[in-house]
Amino acid sequence: QAKLRKGGKPPLFTGEIALVTGAASGIGKACVDSLLQRGAAVIGLDLDTKIEALYDRADFCGITCDVTDETALHAALEQAVQRFGGLDMLILNAGIFPGGCPIADLDSAEWRKVMSVNLDANLALLRQAYPLLKLAPQGGRVVVIGSKNVPAPGPGAAAYSASKAALNQLMRVAALEWGKDNIRLNTLHPNAVFDTGLWTQEVLNSRAAHYGLTVEEYKTNNVLKVEVDSHAVAELAAEMCGPLFAKTTAAQVPVDGGNDRV
Ligand code: NAD
Repeated sequence: QAKLRKGGKPPLFTGEIALVTGAASGIGKACVDSLLQRGAAVIGLDLDTKIEALYDRADFCGITCDVTDETALHAALEQAVQRFGGLDMLILNAGIFPGGCPIADLDSAEWRKVMSVNLDANLALLRQAYPLLKLAPQGGRVVVIGSKNVPAPGPGAAAYSASKAALNQLMRVAALEWGKDNIRLNTLHPNAVFDTGLWTQEVLNSRAAHYGLTVEEYKTNNVLKVEVDSHAVAELAAEMCGPLFAKTTAAQVPVDGGNDRV
């Protein structure tokens, strides 16, 4: 019988350890909050040094780390193992979307940068984390923060959409290869999540105007007419690491209020 903790959420992860990339802000920080609240110890990695002071508590360790630097990733994983003793869950969240532009104007340096953060870094981390995830007593769990651009790419987002689609295939192949090790990998596909660093007020205003909508209409422009915030994405990511998803792998779950695919 799970006892309720303060805050009313039953613990899902007693004694388990999670690592979240891009953990200093937006969806990554919300994932840290949800996992801590559900009883996990959490290692947060971020390029931004503010990760180190994010929380002063025994079950959190914030490490400044550029996920595109394989040596830094290795050091961060070693630190995590020394501090908490292993790794059960991985949230592959760090990602960038630097503006976007038509393919004809796409700069190859920008293409490489997006691929390097959104795709290559996740391959490196998956490979480094694999021996640890194999040892997780309840099975290793990986949640990938994908994008609605995978099932429904938009114009002006070629590098971002391609990087997320490739990441999605990587997740599916890893699920096939690592099922024998009881490692489960699943992807969440959010649409726009506005309480994050990816959305400035200026971008929001211009996107809303582009569709002839008010900002409020644009934020809830989906079937359910709801705004999907980073907390909603994080809560689903935590559940995907829990027993409800014990028999699910290689799944792609939209978290978008229902869009034009419905
Ligand atoms: P965010 O900018 O608030 O958070 C991203 C975090 O990743 C930042 O803290 C940033 O410092 C960190 N980061 C960036 N590059 C890094 C690197 N090289 N090494 C380590 N950390 C790095 O944005 P967010 O919206 O929370 O984005 C999180 C994920 O969600 C991304 O993968 C993004 O593609 C995805 N996503 C976001 C939205 C949205 O509308 N916000 C929609 C769909 C998917």
